[in-house]
Formats: sequence, C-alpha cells, structure tokens
Amino acid sequence: MKKTGFTTRSLNVPYPKDDPHKALQMPLYDAVAFEFGSAEQLEANFKGEYIAHVYSRTSNPTVEYFEVKLRELTNSRAAIAVSSGMAAISNAVMALTKSGDNIIAGNRLFGHSYALFKQTLAEFGIETRFSELTVKREIEKLVDENTRAIYFETVTNPQLDIADIEMLARVAKKNQLVLIADSTLTPPNVFSAGGFGVNLEVISTTKYISGGATSFGGAIIDHGNFDWKMNPNLNSYTEKFKEDAFLAKIKKNIFRNTGGSMAPQTAKFQVQGLDILELRVEKCYQNCLALGAWFEAHPKVKRVDYPGLENDPRYKLAQKYFGGVPGTIMSFDLESKAACFAFMNKLMIIRRATNLNDNKTLIIHPASTIYSEFTETERAEANIRDTMMRLSVGIENVEDLIADIEQALR
Ligand SMILES: *Cc1c(COP(=O)(O)O)cnc(C)c1O
Repeated sequence: MKKTGFTTRSLNVPYPKDDPHKALQMPLYDAVAFEFGSAEQLEANFKGEYIAHVYSRTSNPTVEYFEVKLRELTNSRAAIAVSSGMAAISNAVMALTKSGDNIIAGNRLFGHSYALFKQTLAEFGIETRFSELTVKREIEKLVDENTRAIYFETVTNPQLDIADIEMLARVAKKNQLVLIADSTLTPPNVFSAGGFGVNLEVISTTKYISGGATSFGGAIIDHGNFDWKMNPNLNSYTEKFKEDAFLAKIKKNIFRNTGGSMAPQTAKFQVQGLDILELRVEKCYQNCLALGAWFEAHPKVKRVDYPGLENDPRYKLAQKYFGGVPGTIMSFDLESKAACFAFMNKLMIIRRATNLNDNKTLIIHPASTIYSEFTETERAEANIRDTMMRLSVGIENVEDLIADIEQALR
C-alpha cells in the first residue's frame, strides 16, 4: 500500500497490545501500579526477561501509546514522553553530559532553556557555550574534547530566525557531537528532523501537539542516527543496549531517577492532539498567510515578520526545511510601544497571553514581558523591538481575526 499521509497514519497506529473491547480510543489507564500473576513473573520482570508495565512513573500503557504514535509519526527509533518541554530538554542534556563537560547552544533560546543552561546546569558543572550558530568556523572554535552536543531551536521566538540545520548537522557530525533540535515551533507534520541530520529532537508538546493548550507535556525523540559509542557518558549502556543506548540511559537512569514522567491523563489529551495536529497547523498557517497579506497592505503596520511570506528574507529556508510552514507564530510592528499597548487593549477576540499554539489567537508585547529583565542593549542584540508584538495564530475564522485587528487599529 502507498505510504499514507500524516493524519491517516496518526489515526491508524496500532496499540502495543490489542484492546479486549476493540475500543477505537486508547483507554486512559489511570493507574499507578500493575499486578503480576506470580512471584516468578515479577522476578522475570525485574531481570528484564518479561516486559510489562510495573509502576506509572517509569511506564504506563496510555503514555506508551503516545510514545509509539510519536515514534511512528517521526519515523524515529524512539520517543520518550515526559512531563513538560523543560523536562525533555533537561533530561536529554543530562543524559549526554557530566560535570566538566560542555555543550554549544544558540544564543537566542526560549527563556527557561537559557536559564537552565546558564544557571541550573552550570551549578552542576555543565558549561554552555552560547553562539550565533551561523558560521561554521565560529562554532568549531568552541569545540574541545569535553564538548558533547550542539543545541539549537529550529525557529527562534520571537525573532523567527531559521537555523541552517544542514550546516549544523555537518559540524556536529564532523566533531562527533550530538545535534539536538528544539523543534517545538515546527511540529513533525512539517519538519522531518532526522532527514536533515538532527540526532535528538526535544519538543514542548504543551504547545502544538497537546491539541491546543490542553495539557503540559514534552518529548525526546531519538532519530537513531548517532553512534552512541562516541559519547563517553553512555559507555555503560552501549555494549548491552547498542543503538538503544541513549534510550536505556534515559529510561534506566535520568528519567526514572528525576521523575519527570508524563501523567496518563495528559497522554490521553496528547494522543488526540496528534490526530488533529495536521488539521490545526494547516488552518493556523492559512490564517497566518491571510493576516500577513492584510498587515503588509495596512499603512499603520510598519513591519511584518513571518517566514512563510514570500517577502520574508527567511522564506527560502522555510521552504527547504519546513515545506514552507515555519510554524504559525508571526510578529508585526506599530509605530511605538504606546501604539502597541493601545492596540492590544482594544482587542476583543485575540487574547492577551504568553502561550503558543493554543487554538485561540494570542498576542504579547515581548519587550515589556518575556524580555523585561533584559537591559536595553541586550534587547537590541536579541532584536526585540519596543514596537513589536508577537501573535500566536489560532484556528478562528480569519475574517473575525481581521475584523478584530481592524477595529483595534482604528
Ligand atoms: C514552551 C517552550 C519550551 C518549554 O516547554 P514547557 O512545556 O513549557 O516546559 C521549550 N522550548 C520552546 C521553544 C518553547 O516554546
């Protein structure tokens, strides 16, 4: 049979075990523990000879189904569901490093990722070397024998800059470093990370995959394209687990011992979120295009940023890596901060909130909120303008969004 599309595949991923009732929805296994028929069976389980769910912090049938779906939909070797995007990022980096090691990371990161690297992991002796990640030579200058990974975001927020992913993959490969992409803004129906040389994807599934701000979640995806023997911190796993060494270290060490599991109730939402992901992304994308064209034509709008628009300087990269759909976050500028505030206060349909990829369209003024602790110079360096607002475009009927924007601009 011909390979089916994303949504068809999502709707038809079989359960790991047949459901006794042939339920068409994966049931919610709202249970902490699972029992065994005999002491021998329990012993075999703990020896790794009989695989079954034991305790839901380490595995649960509903969470497992979410992982299996995500693995299928990303054509990857393994997907690990965790409690949040930050749990995915911290677990992935902790599995690859130890005190004395370093990683190289982009310098325009999601705020808490930056804080995790700059503060939390630094306090445990893991250094992060921040860089533009645009010039190969500059990246290679930062590499030494203790460097373990290059970490970047596929599309930066709110600048919407797109990484040269193939270049990063070449640098990572040559230097035997794991290439980690935070692909939260570009979900798996538009971005095939493994095909571009990304080794690990970390995702805040809170955003797109949750089905629209339904629940907190995260995922780590192992694309099966890194030789784990190259990372000394996985030495005790490579012999026994071979290609699954990273998965084993996460499951048997970092993830289990730090306790960042996804709740089964959350997994239920996230499973349904995957089924409607493509539909929602397509609708948000069409809304972005319509809003973009409208903004471009409006005299009060000084600037529009959306790499899905032909006039955007990053349009070509968006075509190359994301089939033209660079997520559905956009930004636009008015003449002053006061004009932005007056505009935001008049909105009636668009909501003033920080989240991304809700079903509702959300707006925020980054300079006075997410970047309020930055100095003016730091904001300028990060290209955060006082005149800019970020829109996370939702699935509303676009004529209503335009009408709301039009009345608020008046
Ligand atoms: C939201 C977000 C995170 C953190 O995810 P949580 O689920 O809130 O922990 C990480 N990276 C990016 C790009 C995000 O947008």
